[in-house]
Amino acid sequence: FVVISFENVSKKYRDGTVAVDGIDFTVNKGEFFVLIGPSGSGKTTTLKMMNRLIPISDGTIYIDGKKISEYNIHELRWNIGYVLQQIALFPHMTIEENIAIVPELKQWNKGKIHERVTELLDMVGLDPDVFRTRKPSELSGGEQQRVGVVRALAADPDIILMDEPFSALDPISRDKLQEDIIHLQKTIKKTIVFVTHDMKEAIKLADRICLMNEGKIVQLGTPNEIISNP
Ligand code: ADP
Ligand code: ADP
Repeated sequence: FVVISFENVSKKYRDGTVAVDGIDFTVNKGEFFVLIGPSGSGKTTTLKMMNRLIPISDGTIYIDGKKISEYNIHELRWNIGYVLQQIALFPHMTIEENIAIVPELKQWNKGKIHERVTELLDMVGLDPDVFRTRKPSELSGGEQQRVGVVRALAADPDIILMDEPFSALDPISRDKLQEDIIHLQKTIKKTIVFVTHDMKEAIKLADRICLMNEGKIVQLGTPNEIISNP
């Protein structure tokens, strides 16, 4: 069933830039949905509106059938994990503390948090005994990005938004993380909305691809449909 629904959604920034111009689409539960398009086409803006990081100018977004404006903001953010393009781990905190931010806010007990961190680090091939107590500066870029990804999963959100999470990585780390994400998606069956400008990456990851240009949706379909209708 439908988890995310955009109805005639637009975003006009204060300086008059129309970043998103009346878009409609739906994302189904458990779907890997990829937003693709050239730089400036409105992908990041579309993503940021979903968890109210920026306000909508016009139209309506529904999550699980409820208007996002009607959610308590914490409820909405906790239910939607967000992975940024730039690695955004807190440098003064250990890897465990970084991953535990949302579970702490949700007041999980220490034992449950410890167990969850172990499980998440295992999931992306980082030995918990080694990495739990390290600081972000003691990790490679690819390792930090893995932590960024599992941090977004920590409190078990239903939806995960990812904004070019692998673009800063070398090709080998990127390939490995793409495989991890495909594996994660298959095992935990989360709804993922993933922004990229790389068509190869989109085809590899997506159930459906939404192609944007100048704030509008120009094509939406399965990777096969997109390839056969260039
Ligand atoms: P993409 O993610 O596809 O690169 P963005 O959503 O970041 O595109 O940007 C879409 C358009 O909105 C671009 O023209 C960009 O310059 C503009 N834009 C993004 N953020 C702002 C902002 N805070 N104020 C004004 N214009 C913005
Ligand atoms: P990214 O795509 O790397 O996430 P964004 O497009 O979100 O980057 O831009 C990073 C910051 O710069 C955001 O705070 C965004 O609102 C702002 N920004 C982006 N484009 C513009 C613009 N054209 N004018 C003003 N602010 C902008």
